[in-house]
This record gives sequence, structure tokens and C-alpha cells, in this order.
Amino acid sequence: NSLNQNLAEVGDINVSFEFFPPSTPEMEQILWNSIRRLEPLNPKFVSVTYGANSGVRDRTHGVIERIQQETQLVAAPHLTLVDASDEELLSLAKNYWNQGIRNIVALRGDLPAGSPKPTRFAADLVRLLKSVADFDISVAAYPEVHPEAANAQADLVNLKRKIDAGANRAITQFFFDVESYLRFRDRCVAAGIDVEIVPGILPVTNFTQLKRFAAMTNVSIPGWLHRQFEGLENDAATRQLVGANVAIDMVKVLAREGVKDFHFYTLNRAELSYAICHTLGVRPRQD
Ligand code: FAD
Repeated sequence: NSLNQNLAEVGDINVSFEFFPPSTPEMEQILWNSIRRLEPLNPKFVSVTYGANSGVRDRTHGVIERIQQETQLVAAPHLTLVDASDEELLSLAKNYWNQGIRNIVALRGDLPAGSPKPTRFAADLVRLLKSVADFDISVAAYPEVHPEAANAQADLVNLKRKIDAGANRAITQFFFDVESYLRFRDRCVAAGIDVEIVPGILPVTNFTQLKRFAAMTNVSIPGWLHRQFEGLENDAATRQLVGANVAIDMVKVLAREGVKDFHFYTLNRAELSYAICHTLGVRPRQD
């Protein structure tokens, strides 16, 4: 049909892949198999999340370093400002720059339970990073509104502040309601936000885990998605096929709506992200 034809011709699709630091040798093996599998797709960058306690932070740096040393990929560490002083952040940023890191995903981070009202936000981190060097900075955006935002307009104004502070693109929280992304993108344009609003695609294989995630992050799970995974609790193979199909349907609509950049929450698994990229016409580099 014409949509598949259009997709084959769409060209110029940029992808990025997000990973998290593994906590066991087995998970490390899975991560590295996935990185190797996705590397030939020539992503714009691959990012590694940053956890809220110090052990996890060191693991982020470890993965980033190994990506830099052992692959051709552009490594983008996530960095959060909760739990870190400006001095610590400045020194981290300088170290990253000296180590050849040019891309950072800058976030406030989730507040530990019982924290007082925050006084520093992601926009402050963007400003701090730009004061160190001209990093390429990605920030977070929320088509269905961040759970702590006063309202949708305040959240949009916050995104504008992050872009005005120098961020180069926004990556969205995952979503399943494509319309909510498209409406959000329109509102960004209307607000004068002139960077790419890159959809964050979460290929779903574990629906039970997704329901937990979604409840914490204010992401709606439409009825049709519940029905897709109904009865598959003990059938991982079928869930994998259904998950790929759901994500491929989504990216087809997004591509038809002119989206050229896609960010994948891989959860350290390559298969679904690889298949979705393939459908978008993203193929291994021949070299
Ligand atoms: P901000 O942009 O600072 O916004 C946080 C909230 O504060 C919003 O509700 C905003 O509207 C509000 N706000 C902003 N400024 C003000 C102000 N001046 N006054 C009042 N309210 C204000 N978390 C991690 O811990 N590690 C990660 O690696 C990580 N990676 C992520 C990657 C992506 C692509 C996304 C979408 C999220 C990621 N997160 C990560 C989660 C993120 O840290 C949380 O969603 C966090 O709660 C908000 O971070 P932010 O950068 O969006 O914050």
C-alpha cells in the first residue's frame, strides 16, 4: 500500500538508542550483545541512563567509557541534578568534555520520596553544562504532561525554558496515544519551540511491567493496548510479536506525519528496536 511505499522512500531517518547500566554479569552480556546488534544501524547517538544512587552513577560512566573505547558509536550519558551540587556537576561536565563526550541527556531526575519542593530544575542543568562547553544537549518532554507540573501550559513553558537555555532537542516520555504526541508537537511549534521533539518509542514485551511504569509516569495505556496483550501473560513469544506490531504501527503513523528522528527505549534488548528500524528503512551500514 501507499504507506509502505512512502516508508521505503522516506529516507533520512535518524535513530538513537537508550540503554541502562547492567547490574549483573548476565545483564552486561545482554547489553553488549544488544549494542553490537544495533551498532551497524548507525544511530545518531546511544544514551545510557543515570540512576539516583552513587553505585549506579559509576556504572553509567563505566558503560559510557566502554562504548567510547570499543565502538564507533557516539556515547551520550544521561545526567541528573538531584543529589548533586553545582560544583560536582561542573567537575563531572569538565571530565566528560575532556574525555571526548559531546552529547548529554540533561534531566532533573526523580526526587527521592519525602524530598522538599525542588528549587533546581533541568533548565538550570542545561545552563550549567553550556557554561562549561558547547555540549549537544537533549532534554525530556512530556506529551501527556509531567506528573508534578501545575498544568500542561506550565510544563510547556518549562520545556521552552530548557530549549532557551541551549538544549538542542527534546526526547519525549514514551506514549501509546499517537494523537497526544502530535497535538503536543503542534503546541511546541505554537510556543516557538523550534527543535526536534523526538518521540521516545518503548517497544513493549512485558505488559505487566509496563502498567507499573505507566502509572508512575502519567502515561495513559489505551484500552486497545490492554486488549492486544490480554491473555498473553504466560506467552512471551506472542507478546514479542504483538509488541513489535504495536510499535511498528505507531512509527508508521509518526513517519507519515513527518517525524524523522526516533529515540528507542531499548531496555537493553535489541530485537524489537532493530525490527522497527528496519521497517523505517534504517538498514546496516555497508562497510
Ligand atoms: P524538569 O524539566 O526540571 O521538570 C520537572 C518538573 O518541574 C515538571 O513538572 C516541570 O513542569 C516542573 N518545573 C520546572 N521548572 C519549574 C519551576 N521553575 N517552578 C515550578 N515547577 C517547575 N531520570 C533519571 O533519574 N535518570 C535518567 O537517566 C533519566 N532519563 C530520562 C530520559 C528521558 C528521555 C525522559 C523523558 C526522562 C528521564 N528520566 C530520567 C526521568 C526524569 O528525571 C523525571 O521525569 C523527572 O521527574 C523530571 O525530569 P525533567 O528533566 O523533565 O525535569
